[in-house]
Parts: sequence; C-alpha cells; structure tokens
Amino acid sequence: MTASISAKASPASDSDRAAELALRAFMSMDRAVAIVGPDGKLLQPNIVFARLFGDSELIDRINREAGAHNGKTDRQITLSDGRAFWVETIPMDGGWLVSAYDMTERSAKARTDTLTKLGNRLKFHEQLTELLVKPDRVPETAAVLVIDLDRFKAINESLGRDIGGGLLRLVAERIRAALGRDDIVARLGGDKFAIVQTGQPQPLSAAYLAGRLIDQIGRSYMVEGQLIDTDVCIGIALLPAGPTDSEQLLKNADLALHRAKSDGSGTCRFFEEAMDQKMQYRRNLEIDLRRALALGEFALVYEPQVNLRRNAVTGFEALLRWQSPTRGAVSPVEFIPVAEDTGIITSIGEWVLRTACREAAGWPGAHRISINVSAIQFKNPNLVTTILSALAESGLNSQRLELEITESVMLNAQGSALTMLQTLRGIGVRVALDDFGVGYSSLGYLRSFPFDRIKIDQSFVRGESNDAVGQAIVRAIATLGQSLGMATVAEGVETDEQLARIAADGCTDIQGYLVSRPMPPEQIEGFLSSRSESVARKGPGGIAIPDQRKRRKRAR
Ligand code: C2E
Ligand code: MG
Ligand code: MG
Repeated sequence: MTASISAKASPASDSDRAAELALRAFMSMDRAVAIVGPDGKLLQPNIVFARLFGDSELIDRINREAGAHNGKTDRQITLSDGRAFWVETIPMDGGWLVSAYDMTERSAKARTDTLTKLGNRLKFHEQLTELLVKPDRVPETAAVLVIDLDRFKAINESLGRDIGGGLLRLVAERIRAALGRDDIVARLGGDKFAIVQTGQPQPLSAAYLAGRLIDQIGRSYMVEGQLIDTDVCIGIALLPAGPTDSEQLLKNADLALHRAKSDGSGTCRFFEEAMDQKMQYRRNLEIDLRRALALGEFALVYEPQVNLRRNAVTGFEALLRWQSPTRGAVSPVEFIPVAEDTGIITSIGEWVLRTACREAAGWPGAHRISINVSAIQFKNPNLVTTILSALAESGLNSQRLELEITESVMLNAQGSALTMLQTLRGIGVRVALDDFGVGYSSLGYLRSFPFDRIKIDQSFVRGESNDAVGQAIVRAIATLGQSLGMATVAEGVETDEQLARIAADGCTDIQGYLVSRPMPPEQIEGFLSSRSESVARKGPGGIAIPDQRKRRKRAR
C-alpha cells in the first residue's frame, strides 16, 4: 500500500489514476498524517506532518512508547519543545498510519458545536468573559440575547432527530445572517442559542435584532422534504454598568426568556430585577410546598352552596388552605399556580380528592362535595383511577361528587381530558365549569361536554350595581344555562342586594359569604342544623340567610 501511494509514475490506467488521487488527498489533508514502516521508519509524511515534525522526535517517541503495540493506540505526546499533540496510531498492512493533531486545535474542537459549527456554551462564556473584562468596554452598547425554539422537542420526536438536526442547522444560518460582524453567537445546547450583540446603542438595537430574529426564524423551513414551522421566544439582558460575570448575564437573559415564553410564542422580553426576585420567591415556595404535604400543613375548608328554588344547602365546595409554619396562612391563589407549574399539584390534588371524599362521607346529610381539579391533573392518565379509589376508600356515593374544572382543561389536554370526563360522568360524577365568564368563555366548550353546572365568576356577581355589562353577562349565562339544561351557580354573593339581582337574573344556585364563609369540617354539622332551624323560622320560599351575628362567629 505504501509503495502504491508513493508511486510517482504518470497515470496510465484507472488504478494508477486512483492511486494518484489518493496520494494527493493524503498529502493535502489538513491534519498531520504519516505512514511509518514496520521497522519504525518514516516512509511518507503528508505536508502538515512534515511542517509540524521536521525532525524525527515524534516518530522516535512513537516507536519507543507505542511501537511494541499491535493494536490501535491514541494518547497525548508532549515534545521536548513543549508542544503537545494528540497522536493516534493505526496498524495497517506494511506498517502504521500515524495521525497527530495539535492540542490547541483539539481545544478549538472542544469549543465548537459539531452540528451547527457555531461556538458552544464553553466558547460563549469565554468570549463573553473576554468582553466583560475589557477595560474600555462601554456597557450601554452590548446585550445578551437567548433564543429558544418552540415545539422543538415535538418536532424531534415526531419527525426524527435527522430532521431536528437539519432544522437547527438552518436556524443557525438564519441567526448568523441576522447578526453584525462583531456579534458573537453560540448554540448553548438543544434548541437554545445565545448572542452577544456589541457596539450598538441599547436597548434599541437588541429589541430591533430580536424583532428581526423572531420574523426570520419564524418563517417556514424545508428539511428533507418536510415543511416545518416554528417560532422563537427571546430573552434579553443588557450589560449593567457595574461588575457582572457571564454566568449572571446568561441567567438574567434566561429569566427574561422564561417570562417571554409565558407571554406566548414569538415574543421577547428584557430582563428586569424583579424577575430575579420573583423567581427566587417561587423557588423557595416550591421547596416549602414539597414539604408541606409530607408535614400535614394542608387542610380543607368547605363553602356551602345553596339552591335558590329549594332554598336548601345542596353541597359544599372544598377549598384548600395552607398553614405554613414560616409563612403563615398562604392563599391558594398564590400557591396553586406554583404547584401547577412544578407539577406538585398532582400529589396535592390527590390529597384533596381523598380528604374531601373521606370528610364528606362523614357529613350528616347526603350533601354534594365540589372539588376543584386543575388542568394539569388531567394530564395524568391515572386521574380517573385516583378518583375511583378515593370514592371506594371513603364509601362516598359517586353521585355526591362534583368536579369543578376550568376551561383550560378543555383547551390543553387534547381530547384525553374529555374522555376522562365522559368516563367519570358515566359513573355518576358531576362536572361543573368553574369561573365562567373570564378567560375564553367559549360556547364551543359548553357544546363539547354536557356540564351539570356553570359557575359564574364572582367578578360579574360582585360588580357594582351600575355595572350594566356585568349584569348583562350574568343574565346571558343564566339564560344559556336554562336552554342547555345546566344549572348556574353565582359565586361570591356577599350582599342581599347582589342576591336579589342574581335571583332576578335567573341563576339557580349561589355561594358566597352571604351564606357563609368557608368553614372547617368540624363546623359543618352545626352549620346545617342551625340553618334548618333558621329556614323553619322564616318559612319556605324565602331565601334564608343566617343572621350577621351567627355568621361572623362561624367565619374563618
Ligand atoms: P374558586 O374555585 O373560584 O373558589 C372560590 C374562591 O372564592 C375561594 O377562594 C373562596 O374562598 C372565594 N369566595 C367564595 N365566596 C366569596 C365571597 O362571597 N366573597 C369573596 N371575596 N370571596 C369568596 P379561595 O379559597 O382563596 O380559592 C381561590 C381559588 O384557588 C379557587 O377559586 C380555586 O381556583 C383555587 N383552589 C382552591 N382550592 C383548590 C384545590 O383544592 N385545588 C385546586 N386545583 N384549586 C383550588
Ligand atoms: Mg371552584
Ligand atoms: Mg370559581
């Protein structure tokens, strides 16, 4: 083989031509390669090898350290002049193939993203740090942008990694095309890219660049015959006047990115100090929430629901309370969203279901129990099993259970939630649509599932008496409920005036502080018996509300 590569004869046949081409390719390779004979003598170096190792020290070292081996070897060899090389030796017919590359070249490799050929995270940090330590840096002229593709995971999973990789390469090209000469760009990993924009007036230039990137990257791609659409979100952190480091800047840009993502596809956000504080707060809350369940810091209180026509308490809504030893009482409005974001809601929700069913099974009458179930809980395929087991364990009749869901359940779970609801309804569990009137209020949802009740959000119920629009909405929902055969519950009724209005508008049920504030389980029996006395006193037909004094005593 060695002999044929070295052949200098003019090409006369196909095999000669092939040998000539092979020799040329070998000689012009951009890494140092050489052929060494079985006796350890250098037979044929290529140009780079000859340039790097004019003398024979490397070959001597290979002979000394690796010559005895028959297999493939690779290791670092540092020459007497201090230069370090990574050397591979591959045995072949009639000798060895030796290849060596400069460790500095190797370290360039360690800083390059092989897929997109952009710099990688390591390189990005080094370049950003270099910029930050420059004594003449002008802070107002630089910004860090972090870019994240939408739905990349889904694209990768459904169309395959090759197409995913192809898409990332095209995105990298579009990013590069949108940048200025001195800007730095890297792929941080996955579908995340980062840019340092330099020498431009800020924040205007970063906002302008982000707009351009959102537009460019958001245009369709053709990868291996597949038409792909994706969007991006961008987080931006400006270089502060004071000292900072690359980690901190990237973290700030990340927080802004997180915020942009929650604002929706194709958005960009600048980092603000408050974002960091908010994130810190949420992180601590998450830690405490995880502990709270194990330490039994949660409890349920129950808010009565009254049917206006029968003037009777038909059931109670279970509301979660968290008494934290360090934070005090924390409102569900504050901690439920964090529990949802972190997925802890699945286990908290299961605790709520089991506890509420067990406590309701011990009530004196067959009142219904309404339990709030988050959209996230419907993403767990075990939800139906959990509910069935909560019913079985407590012995509660399934017809006494009502689930309160919001429209987001119908919006996010792509059909599987609907199937779960149908299964549950099939065994007699009732379903109410909570907080109707805020959010999407899509009539389509009302058609897609036969809800038992629609709960009208309290903001419409407690609106000012001169709030004509709010009142019109309540009336419209009540009428809609009537024609669909669904009961309508007005939430948050606090005054007699509101009650009179709600009743006139045609709502069938109410709940709110006018009836009672939510109460702990041990007060339910007393509440029910004092209420039946009060109804007996006022006579049937009227809307009986406990007097102020009693109500305050029961308040919590
Ligand atoms: P929601 O399901 O709409 O519950 C009604 C909220 O209105 C409750 O607040 C209740 O205490 C309050 N409320 C009821 N009547 C009145 C009234 O007359 N005046 C006023 N000002 N407020 C009234 P709470 O207990 O703070 O719960 C807030 C939200 O937290 C609930 O809204 C629900 O979305 C969520 N939540 C509570 N418990 C759970 C739970 O166990 N699981 C889930 N996923 N969410 C829950
Ligand atoms: Mg509710
Ligand atoms: Mg509600």
